[in-house]
Parts: sequence; C-alpha cells; structure tokens
Amino acid sequence: MRLVKEIIIHCSATREGQDIPVETIRDWHVNSRGWSDIGYHFYIELDGTIKKGRDIDRIGAHCKSHNRGSIGLCYCGGVEADGKTPKDTRTDVQKESLLHVLKTLKAMYPDAIIYSHNEFANKACPSFDATEEYKDL
Ligand SMILES: [Zn+2]
Repeated sequence: MRLVKEIIIHCSATREGQDIPVETIRDWHVNSRGWSDIGYHFYIELDGTIKKGRDIDRIGAHCKSHNRGSIGLCYCGGVEADGKTPKDTRTDVQKESLLHVLKTLKAMYPDAIIYSHNEFANKACPSFDATEEYKDL
C-alpha cells in the first residue's frame, strides 16, 4: 500500500447543474493533457454516484508537489452558471457520497489529513473549505 499522508479535495470547475461524467474527465486528462489516466482517484458525479478514477495504489495527478503522498477526490461542479465564479455547488447526495468516500479512506489511512486543493495552490478549488468541514473525520 502506498504511503498516504494527504487526502485532497477538488472540484471539476464545471458549471452548477452540468452533468460531466467521469469518462469526460478521463478524456480531458488523457487526450487533452496527455496523462496516462484520469488524475483523480475518485470522482463524485452530479447524481452522487461514486466513480473510481486512477487506482489508489498509483500516484495521481491532481495537486502539484503533493501527488506522491496523497489521494485526490473530485466532485462534479464548483462554479456558477457563468462558468467562472467559484461556488460550492455540491448537492445533498454529492455531500453524502463525499463523506462516504472520506470515511472509507480515513479508515484505510487513519493518519491522513483532509485538505482543500486551495491549501496548496492559488486556486479557488474546491470552492468550499474542505479542510475545515472534514477536520473531525
Ligand atoms: Zn483542484
């Protein structure tokens, strides 16, 4: 098992209510960016479905300088209908699914700390304070 010290939360930075399936994200990462696979390890679709991304035993591609010791999770959404203003667009089912994945990961990696991507990058991602919201998990 890989040493995982950080669990990093992302948004897809796509419009509120826009349904972007995991296959589309994978296509962007593989065919537009030239990566070997989707950069995230888990993806929460608009309807709350939890999709596996890159295998958790493989290093992801989601947070510069932090990929080696982390797992990356992403939810579909994160910006307003204008396509640029950051917004916490998580639906109740997406929140439930996020919590479910996080609890499972914390059981596997009890010492891992959950962070918002924006703790490590000058970005709005994931458009809410995941570090604060999940600090007691
Ligand atoms: Zn991010």
